[in-house]
Amino acid sequence: MSDPAQKTNLLGLPQGELEAHFVALGEKAYHARQVLRWIHQRGVTNFEEMTDLSKSLRTRLQESAVVELPQVLSQHDSRDGTVKWLFASGSGQAVEAVFIPEPDRGTLCISSQVGCALDCAFCATGAQGFNRNLTAAEIVGQVWHANQALPRRNNGEFAVTNIVFMGMGEPLANYRSVVPATRLLLSDLAYGLSRRKVTVSTSGLVPQIDRLADECNVALAVSLHAPNDELRNRLVPINKIHPIAELLDACWRYTEKHAKRFITFEYVMLRGVNDSLQHADELGDLLDGKPAKINLIPFNPFDGNEFARSSAETIRSFQDRLRKRGMIVTTRKTRGDDIDAACGQLAGKVSDRVRVRLGDKTIRTATA
Ligand code: SAH
Ligand code: SF4
Repeated sequence: MSDPAQKTNLLGLPQGELEAHFVALGEKAYHARQVLRWIHQRGVTNFEEMTDLSKSLRTRLQESAVVELPQVLSQHDSRDGTVKWLFASGSGQAVEAVFIPEPDRGTLCISSQVGCALDCAFCATGAQGFNRNLTAAEIVGQVWHANQALPRRNNGEFAVTNIVFMGMGEPLANYRSVVPATRLLLSDLAYGLSRRKVTVSTSGLVPQIDRLADECNVALAVSLHAPNDELRNRLVPINKIHPIAELLDACWRYTEKHAKRFITFEYVMLRGVNDSLQHADELGDLLDGKPAKINLIPFNPFDGNEFARSSAETIRSFQDRLRKRGMIVTTRKTRGDDIDAACGQLAGKVSDRVRVRLGDKTIRTATA
């Protein structure tokens, strides 16, 4: 018997890579199409059950490949219908995915890394530090599992109709796995989602935004959170490398390449920090007249963090101030907070291997 460790995991391979796998076996490339449908659309992971493949091909696949899913450690169901899963990611680590049902859609919020190195001041994932990148199989495995675990929609479609990379990790710091995973989400042979229904959220890795524009132009959300560099340097430290002007230039290049689509700017509302009407005016000056939507996110508290959520009234005034200039502004509904599944509360289980402790000083050694 061959060593399973040597076998290729087909779960994370998009069509081109799967075709190459078949060609390397001396088989016809078109089998990739059959196998993609079996795995992602029919949820079959055992080659023996792939009955439109010849017996000899099934045997060859068993010898050379596996379809290996991330192990589910737990499922939590929120009072509001939100569902959170914890997936094992090796060495006692875990990542989370969250399903948010709404009448007209089902959004799955997925993780791209075990932890995150970017250390945003208000984020539970960032507070844990970074352990490693997920593989494409571990990313797409979250979607596979949610679709298998949840009942289908009334029209017979899978429960997951929209994907947001807003779970644990910075997706553009794991570009190499996020792009193949995204190709599977878009593929008609796999999940068949339109580009508008897959959103990559980034804290602002400018070179990767430009690459994404050329290679995989899905919807983009940008975690802005502050209207000036001084404040953003404090809240989103990657701003020291790619300041606001540089980031916004990349955003407008992104929209220009793609039929003037809008970018969503995420703005976490932190009491007394970034939530004044002056901040709203400054934000408006940056984004007014541009293909921009603003999504205000009430801060979700977590243990050991000192920020507080802006009051509902402050959030409303901030929103109204921007709407008065004709801008598109929404406020995110907080969902699943009874199971710690709200934005920024996803902590999974991460032990940070890039943080070096020196007495009581903490140094982060990883950068994006
Ligand atoms: N790393 C990516 C995607 C994951 S975070 C990014 O930063 O965009 C998804 C969103 O949740 C981001 O906008 C992030 O800033 C926000 N977020 C992080 N911590 C939060 C918290 N405690 N409360 C509310 N939103 C938070
Ligand atoms: Fe990382 Fe995003 Fe959290 Fe910042 S907000 S630490 S980029 S996961």
